[in-house]
Amino acid sequence: MLIDDLINEIKEYAEENNVPIMADDGIRYLLNYINKHNVRNILEIGTAIGYSAIMMCMVHPEIQVTTIERDEKRYLEALKNIKKANLENRIHLIYNDALEVRLDEMYDLIFIDAAKAQNQRFFERFERNLFDDGTIITDNMKFHGLVEKNIDEIESKNLRQLVRKVKDYIMYLKGNAYYETEFVDVGDGLAVSKKNFI
Ligand code: SAH
Ligand code: MG
Repeated sequence: MLIDDLINEIKEYAEENNVPIMADDGIRYLLNYINKHNVRNILEIGTAIGYSAIMMCMVHPEIQVTTIERDEKRYLEALKNIKKANLENRIHLIYNDALEVRLDEMYDLIFIDAAKAQNQRFFERFERNLFDDGTIITDNMKFHGLVEKNIDEIESKNLRQLVRKVKDYIMYLKGNAYYETEFVDVGDGLAVSKKNFI
């Protein structure tokens, strides 16, 4: 199957099944970053159905992606898509809650795109797997525009709590002296945190 056809098929499936895959300009930024910084080893938290993992592999033939998904249906769909893309040797799919996973490998890039409320926990759990010149990129920093809103205007209590969590994470990144974080206004907002190494 042609990779372009597969990508279109995956995007259609995502649309029909409400799978929140990356927005076009967000993925474009991410792929460009991978290309510019010669990223080869990537850890992704939140595979969904494999869209971003497959796209990242397309940047360079030596790229390897380890990606974690806890939802069974999405995991199975991702497995199917990775097979169709012939990327079983380059995408290592882990079916588990990322907060239960411990890895020994080191990565140039960690891409966090999972449960928004857990961003800081993912960050702190996996930063030990980041090379000294590595970067952690987090998606959904705008939370569909809710982060810019006055928090009292949000009706649902659950939603308010989630928005607070995203705001806390922004403060955490800004206050984290070990990383230089840039907030990039593409897709649903990306935080690009480059490790400061001496
Ligand atoms: N990166 C994907 C989209 C991921 S959507 C793409 O752009 O193609 C977010 C996914 O994270 C969901 O499928 C959800 O099930 C998964 N997720 C959320 N919390 C998780 C956790 N703690 N561990 C593993 N996966 C998680
Ligand atoms: Mg996302």
